[in-house]
Amino acid sequence: MNGVANLPLAGTTRVGEIAFIDLKAQQRIIRERIESRLKRVLDHGKYIAGPEVEELEEALAARTGAKGAVACASGTAALIIPMLAQGVDVGDAVFAPSFTYNATVNAILLTGATPVFVDVDPDTFNMDPADLERRIEVVRREGRLRPRAAIPVDLFGAPADYPAISKIAEREGLFLLADGAQSFGARLHGRWVGDLATATATSFFPGKALGAYGDAGAVFTQDESALEAWRSIRWHGTDASRKISVCVGFNGRMDSFQAAVLLEKLAIFDEEQDARARIAAAYDARLSGAARLQALVPGAQSGRSYYSLCAPGRDAIVAMLKEMGVPTAIYYETPLHMMPAFEAFAPAGGLPVTEGLAREIFSLPMHPYLTPAQVDYICEATLYCIDRTR
Ligand SMILES: *Cc1c(COP(=O)(O)O)cnc(C)c1O
Repeated sequence: MNGVANLPLAGTTRVGEIAFIDLKAQQRIIRERIESRLKRVLDHGKYIAGPEVEELEEALAARTGAKGAVACASGTAALIIPMLAQGVDVGDAVFAPSFTYNATVNAILLTGATPVFVDVDPDTFNMDPADLERRIEVVRREGRLRPRAAIPVDLFGAPADYPAISKIAEREGLFLLADGAQSFGARLHGRWVGDLATATATSFFPGKALGAYGDAGAVFTQDESALEAWRSIRWHGTDASRKISVCVGFNGRMDSFQAAVLLEKLAIFDEEQDARARIAAAYDARLSGAARLQALVPGAQSGRSYYSLCAPGRDAIVAMLKEMGVPTAIYYETPLHMMPAFEAFAPAGGLPVTEGLAREIFSLPMHPYLTPAQVDYICEATLYCIDRTR
């Protein structure tokens, strides 16, 4: 390939270094507030279960409209806790997409249940409700597993088709657990992620839209009565005395430092969401004619944690973009049912939509601190690379 100097865009625009996700820019804005929050934790010394944790749980519930939120150690813990509370166990089928991060399916397997992969919709990239129905039907016919729960994933921040999936879950008696690890701050028909399913797990991994400075997560409920069991499981399965084990649990807690960081990040989160929405709208407007973009279900507003698009010749496009100074990422290059850890659960005939997406998808830089000039440059470069690979 020609060097960068031969590409028409190089040198014509001064955009500075483009970051895929820019946590440093964000830190510059809130550094002092975070330092004083962390200092308060050092002063009170309650590193576990400090007042920050409860304050955060209240803020998260208020922010989402959920009946309650339980802060926990990670997004993975947030997926496992409600499944354990629900009694998901060996012999249960839990339906989940293969086009997601491995944690969704690890969580299922760690409960002892069996993952049943569901294909995604080619437009929304999220769980296809029609395929969910087909897979439930197959499991019932085979009679080996009990259909027990479904875990739609809100990929890249876009809410899954909860109206359709909730209806199926209700009819089939499935526990509906949303994997909202990428979609905190998104909404559907005026309701926030956290209040779209019986239970919703989210992750505050540093690179997520709302990220801690370490590992953290939360689980939200539409039913207050779930909270006690979740808090117990998070604390080794103990009762309120924290001495007597009443169920199987594990160390699923969030520490006070992470809660302190998240409280300050939550304070600027709405502004950041607005910036993400503006940037995504600019990408949409410029790129919609040249690539396949992620469609939203009606009434949905994506949290835009990642901006992903599909184009044939993806590998060449991302290689060219790299040369032009545009960092990209590929979520996900290998569907879970094709990975060694999970291939035993691959459905006969594979998952055609998932496998097609995995070949064409890539993500452009997405964070609230991209400048208009950078967004412009990224669009021009992407259009140029797509055009060159046609
Ligand atoms: C990040 C992520 C998780 C796991 O979150 P951790 O905090 O890393 O445990 C689960 N599901 C999805 C879809 C994710 O993107």
